[in-house]
Amino acid sequence: MKLVKLLANLGYGSRSQIDRHLRRGEVTDIHGKVLGERDFPPHDQILFKGEPLDLPAPLTLMFHKPDGYTCSTDDPGDTIYDLLPVRYALRNPILSPVGRLDKDTTGLLLMTDDGKLLHRLISPKHHVPKIYRVTLDRVIEGHEEALFASGELILRGEDKPLLPAKLEVIGEKEAFITLEEGRYHQVRRMFAAAGNHVVALKRVKVGGLALPEDLAEGEWKVLTPEEIELAG
Ligand code: URA
Repeated sequence: MKLVKLLANLGYGSRSQIDRHLRRGEVTDIHGKVLGERDFPPHDQILFKGEPLDLPAPLTLMFHKPDGYTCSTDDPGDTIYDLLPVRYALRNPILSPVGRLDKDTTGLLLMTDDGKLLHRLISPKHHVPKIYRVTLDRVIEGHEEALFASGELILRGEDKPLLPAKLEVIGEKEAFITLEEGRYHQVRRMFAAAGNHVVALKRVKVGGLALPEDLAEGEWKVLTPEEIELAG
């Protein structure tokens, strides 16, 4: 792959913008030698404006999604891509969210350009558990645990029952819920079916990978192969 194509695929700009960066001497090797379009040193020896290049595909991030942002690329309102470097939305292949979270859901969102990983993590066939912390409007009555675990709950407008889900009550109006699938507004619709209303929802774990306490809302980090393995 040529240098211009590599930088374009990593989202550093269009080909003509990258040509301009090259002409301005903004792409160098680690020794400060200005690179031209015919140079192509190893990836980890290329600097863009003095900074190491982003990792090439496959790249997987963990993002702490704040309230008020959609997971869409084409939403005219605030999207998660507004919180990441612009080039992350311009990469080819693009980094896509692994299972969308609602605009008002917070917490652990993985983003990847690895199609196989994406499929493995979201397909109900692979049973990767996703754990959410739920805050409710009304007190949990006690019947919800059996209802969700039954494998017989059918959401309004659907005809296929939900897979069994585990509810762990941790307060009068607080619980953890574990799902192995991700239907549209699933947690909110499950509690609506049980006569309650979700007031706050946060994803705290995907597979064995938990949202770290030191990753603040709006922050992200690149996952290591070991962390990806933990997720599923
Ligand atoms: N269930 C929901 O209702 N919303 C989410 O964002 C995720 C799971």
